[in-house]
Amino acid sequence: MKTLVVFDFDHTIVDENSDTWVIRCTPDQKLPDWLEKSYQRGRWTEYMGRVLTYIGDQSVRPEHMRAVMESIPFTDGMTELLTFISENKKHIDCIIISDSNTLFIDWALQASGLKSAVDDVFSNPANIDARGYVSLRCFHAHACKECPVNLCKRRVLRDFTENRAKDGLRYERICYIGDGGNDFCPVKELTEGDIAMPRKGFTLEKLLRKGISEGSNELRAKIMPWTSAKEILQELRALIE
Ligand SMILES: [Mg+2]
Ligand SMILES: [Zn+2]
Repeated sequence: MKTLVVFDFDHTIVDENSDTWVIRCTPDQKLPDWLEKSYQRGRWTEYMGRVLTYIGDQSVRPEHMRAVMESIPFTDGMTELLTFISENKKHIDCIIISDSNTLFIDWALQASGLKSAVDDVFSNPANIDARGYVSLRCFHAHACKECPVNLCKRRVLRDFTENRAKDGLRYERICYIGDGGNDFCPVKELTEGDIAMPRKGFTLEKLLRKGISEGSNELRAKIMPWTSAKEILQELRALIE
């Protein structure tokens, strides 16, 4: 039976937020105040749509944006971890669920040469339109009250494992690797035998601590905080060997 590894992207696979990293491709390397102030809580994807339109208006070419995204740094040990996963596809399936977008993730993964580690990417769909602007859409609509309007990662994870189960594939365990507030909802989908891997010092770890201290019965997975992805690699190696 296989292990399913689920990754968040920003501050997990890469050590930055791709949506703020992209601002480096603008002529001033910053956004105007009026644009920054237009963000409304829970509506990040709409805001990013405006940011990408602004970037297009500055005559930034998509090739330049791509080069900037290819320079985004990976988190410590992540290259080694993704290499290990790509060499052990017989035992490991691997997906990314991210509130960034498909284009940024694809560019960063292609540049790393480790795209083969990843079976599927679930993120806001993005493409380059006829004007050379990046256009962005919301991933889906959902009924979860806890998550941003465009993405409930728990729903994505559940749909994914249910679809696999229909094909007769059940996972021995799920390892969920993330850092952010929107990774808390999917961690509640995990059960005994699964492992939640929150990045040490980040929001998800704090939410898990709080949930456990309050005696939440939704947190059933084992919790393994990490600083370097090399620690995840060690754990994964021990699990599949
Ligand atoms: Mg993140
Ligand atoms: Zn949710």
